[in-house]
Amino acid sequence: MQQSILAALKAEFPGLSIRENVPWREVTSLKAGGTIPVLAEPGDDIVLAPLLHFCHNRHIPVLVLGNGSNTVGADALPEALVLRLNHGNFVRICFARDRIVAGAGVRWKDFVRTCAEHGFGGLAPLAGIPGQVGGLLMMNAGAHGAAISDFLYEVCGFDRTGESCSLMKDELRWEYRHTSIPAGTVVTAAIFKLPPAAPDEQERITGELRNRGTTQPGGLNAGCFFRNAGNESAGKLIDEAGCKGLTVGDATVSDLHANFILNRGHATAQDVLELMIQVRRKVAEHAGIYLKPEVCFADPEALKKFYAAVPAPRISLSPDSPLRTILRNIGYEIAAPEDEADLTIAKCPVAPLSEYSCGLWLKEMISAKK
Ligand SMILES: Cc1cc2nc3c(=O)[nH]c(=O)nc-3n(C[C@H](O)[C@H](O)[C@H](O)COP(=O)(O)OP(=O)(O)OC[C@H]3O[C@@H](n4cnc5c(N)ncnc54)[C@H](O)[C@@H]3O)c2cc1C
Repeated sequence: MQQSILAALKAEFPGLSIRENVPWREVTSLKAGGTIPVLAEPGDDIVLAPLLHFCHNRHIPVLVLGNGSNTVGADALPEALVLRLNHGNFVRICFARDRIVAGAGVRWKDFVRTCAEHGFGGLAPLAGIPGQVGGLLMMNAGAHGAAISDFLYEVCGFDRTGESCSLMKDELRWEYRHTSIPAGTVVTAAIFKLPPAAPDEQERITGELRNRGTTQPGGLNAGCFFRNAGNESAGKLIDEAGCKGLTVGDATVSDLHANFILNRGHATAQDVLELMIQVRRKVAEHAGIYLKPEVCFADPEALKKFYAAVPAPRISLSPDSPLRTILRNIGYEIAAPEDEADLTIAKCPVAPLSEYSCGLWLKEMISAKK
């Protein structure tokens, strides 16, 4: 960020916590990347709204960070302002009869425990997900077939211009690790509706936390790096493609859980990106499935580079083809009528295809065409 803009920011928001050159390793669990040029930590809406307005007027991109548990930092990010909502009103929890209001910066694990102490339950399957309420909502985080959106009533926040907005759960789409909360929204709080706690709610939470310790690798990581391809587990596909132990610089694919990339100490964001590209390439070569990232990149260019390095084939299909959803699940592009396609599928196979068999079938068809 230009020094003159930084000076204006400091002058306009004298009470705002602004830190310069903050290492990504301080604010993300993967601890990869260089430094954040400017990190601002407002404590309430009264500061946040004009801050967003300030950035919008000056075309400064804003990146909101929660706990950084699903984020790959950037080696350089010169123009952006990174925001964290980790104190003041953003970390409050209020109980109002059957509704619970939580600030976006509340740590999820504290929320789950506090709700149980107040007689609310249902959250034990999600208890071990690291992150803050805002981050879990933006990812529609979940585990054991449940997701945070199952318990949501309403989301509140600001759009990128600083205008307040509130959205009822049913006004939004909630899918596997995806929500239709508009891009650029800064979530500031959420209202939840929870069932009564089970008599053994605390034990269920403790059990879930203990269980995680034995099934997931420790060390520096960001959880699962790739989305499952429909019903196909990304971890299994990565393992079968022989990627366990694959390494770039200090980034390596875990031997325990192949969908985890670990930072052995000094991985750069570029190491992580390069390794993710290699994994996508190997799985595509092995199974004909093009994995998509689950992690978020602080640097928006990283995602573009990821897709450009191993582009998914473009398939031309009839508009009513039953293969449409399955192809999207395994990462293929559906060609628009005016686009040139890598493959045209005029007729579907008679038997219903799984994601796995569809990937293999397409792989063979495309290589036969070459
Ligand atoms: C060991 C480990 C295990 C994990 N297990 C699971 C699991 O079982 N299930 C699962 O779903 N995930 C899992 N994850 C991933 C991670 O915990 C979730 O994605 C979680 O939702 C991330 O929350 P966060 O606050 O850390 O978000 P961050 O990583 O900080 O941010 C994630 C995204 O949300 C955006 N964001 C964050 N806060 C806000 C806000 N207030 N307003 C607008 N946008 C915001 C960020 O810009 C970014 O795009 C795991 C991660 C780790 C490290």
